[in-house]
Amino acid sequence: LPESVDVLIVGAGAAGLMCAATAGKRGRRVLVLDHANRVGKKILMSGGGRCNFTNLYTSPENYYSQNPHFCKSALARYTQWDFIALVEKHSIPYHEKTLGQLFCDNKSKDIVDMLLAECRAAKAQIRTRCGIQSIEPLGTGFLVNTGLGKVVCESLVIATGGLSIPTMGATGFGYDVARQFGLKIVPTRPALVPFTLHRHQLEQQQALPGSALPVIASCGEGSFPEQMLFTHRGLSGPAVLQISSYWREGMSVEFDLVPGRNLGEWISEKRRQNPDSYLHRVLAELWSKKLVQHFLQRQGIDSRPLKQYGETALADIALKLQYWKLVPAGTEGYRTAEVTLGGVDTDGISSRTMECKTQSGLYFIGEVLDVTGWLGGYNFQWAWASGHAAGEVV
Ligand code: FAD
Repeated sequence: LPESVDVLIVGAGAAGLMCAATAGKRGRRVLVLDHANRVGKKILMSGGGRCNFTNLYTSPENYYSQNPHFCKSALARYTQWDFIALVEKHSIPYHEKTLGQLFCDNKSKDIVDMLLAECRAAKAQIRTRCGIQSIEPLGTGFLVNTGLGKVVCESLVIATGGLSIPTMGATGFGYDVARQFGLKIVPTRPALVPFTLHRHQLEQQQALPGSALPVIASCGEGSFPEQMLFTHRGLSGPAVLQISSYWREGMSVEFDLVPGRNLGEWISEKRRQNPDSYLHRVLAELWSKKLVQHFLQRQGIDSRPLKQYGETALADIALKLQYWKLVPAGTEGYRTAEVTLGGVDTDGISSRTMECKTQSGLYFIGEVLDVTGWLGGYNFQWAWASGHAAGEVV
């Protein structure tokens, strides 16, 4: 006889574990299956090992989706404050790093341990190293063929995440299930991902890998004031990761390399104060020596005493130095992307319960849906909120 549970959750990541704890607390018999050898691998590797588990300023504006309204209901019913209260209940030390981003003081494992403790308290069972072979809808519920035998469930929750970091167990399983039940998939693409540059662009910046500076990165409708980092393959850092979500092949990206300042006015003022100063010396107040040299070289600008430049020439130089526009060769792809843009089309899903509108008892939560957050703890907050929304009704 097949094993029988009320709720079968596929994927023991952020959303799946939150859903399991929430449903288990309501007295539902919950089983969570994951094909990986351990649960919550992405949580463990997140935030540089310290898990940026939410953001103080989370709001629907921090998410991309074909339907920007879809995330509102779940985010409003399980907020960042609810998750912070849970973290505090488990006495996990944390701090705000910057821009409302909350990180563990110690390790990401604190968050996985907390979720596992919540699942234990709710009597939710978890099994790893278990894949799914097939799903058959029954009159009510589903018959699921798993690597560990057949399971019959009333509610089936798909929480298998996106495609990023395949070496960590990411698969397109959730999209296949969605297609099986007639749901549409919004085309997927890697996001929160570093840019790669063309060979000639890389040759120009050979001396720079490791150098970082504050910028405003803009592309299409997106604009982010944050740090940019030069790498051996191209460009990274928070500003670049954020803007990668707006970028499409062939588009140019513009960087304001002196955010919050009008470089033209600033240099003019410097010239009034100290006309004998060399341009590169003055610029060294803004950037490292390496960066100054690189920016001047890239624009073919000779460094001379400021008094030797005419007013218009200086304004022109300032413009060239302040704004850098380029077309990246591409991105590093799913290999290093933090998230997947696109996914299960939310048109077919209830925004209140995460249930499929055309197949009762089938739910999709977390990153597998076409809801993608900015960098900064927003993606986990979506996983918690959507997992909780489904957990309350499955
Ligand atoms: P996941 O957490 O990815 O869980 C999916 C689970 O499903 C996995 O356990 C996987 O093994 C399992 N699975 C997949 N396919 C199958 C299958 N076929 N059968 C059975 N099981 C399957 N977000 C933040 O908010 N803050 C951060 O600091 C942050 N840092 C990140 C750092 C990195 C390097 C990466 C890659 C991502 C980071 N993210 C961060 C994004 C965040 O990890 C994800 O958005 C979030 O984990 C999504 O939760 P999820 O439960 O939907 O999917």
